[in-house]
Amino acid sequence: MKIIAIGRNYSDHIKELNSKRLSNPIIFQKTDSAIIRNNKPFFYPDFSENINYETEIVLKINKIGKNISRKFAHRYYNEIGLGIDFTARDLQNECKKNGLPWDMAKSFDGSAPISEFIDKQYFKDINNINFSLKLNGEYVQKGNTGHMLYSVDELISYISRFFTLKIGDLIFTGTPAGVGEVKINDRLEGYIEDRKMLDFFVK
Ligand code: MG
Repeated sequence: MKIIAIGRNYSDHIKELNSKRLSNPIIFQKTDSAIIRNNKPFFYPDFSENINYETEIVLKINKIGKNISRKFAHRYYNEIGLGIDFTARDLQNECKKNGLPWDMAKSFDGSAPISEFIDKQYFKDINNINFSLKLNGEYVQKGNTGHMLYSVDELISYISRFFTLKIGDLIFTGTPAGVGEVKINDRLEGYIEDRKMLDFFVK
């Protein structure tokens, strides 16, 4: 399976990082060894001094597809979860400065904790899902999928022009504003609507 992630999909987050809004979604990938499940701890890596959390809605692909039209995109995923796109911001800034790929900053082991997945039938409207993150008990991120620059269906359609989507592939759909650093012993609790999806510690 592969993990495809989208950058700069919420305008409030683009602003906070002083990034440029581009005319197409930014796509990058994470390795399968980035995944952490079952609320296992995230171990702070020794190659960074600035690990940021980014809370994101994650789609699970349930059907193989290539060049999927936007109209049919909803048929290609049936479950939704929550994930953290951990980012070594210091490495990423260094990569950006030198025009280099981001992989080391975004795809390192443990950089993609994910929750259990919920059947999409549970949601009335995919384009109106609230999600949030608490850091040590305080809300630090609150997002709604309605604020995405590119909707879930647009993303699936766009991604599938380049990459065949396969069963079990995951799509991280981008983070809203409020990203920030984690420290050892921090507790992260993630929610979709009122349902707790993630609850783990940084070690
Ligand atoms: Mg992200």
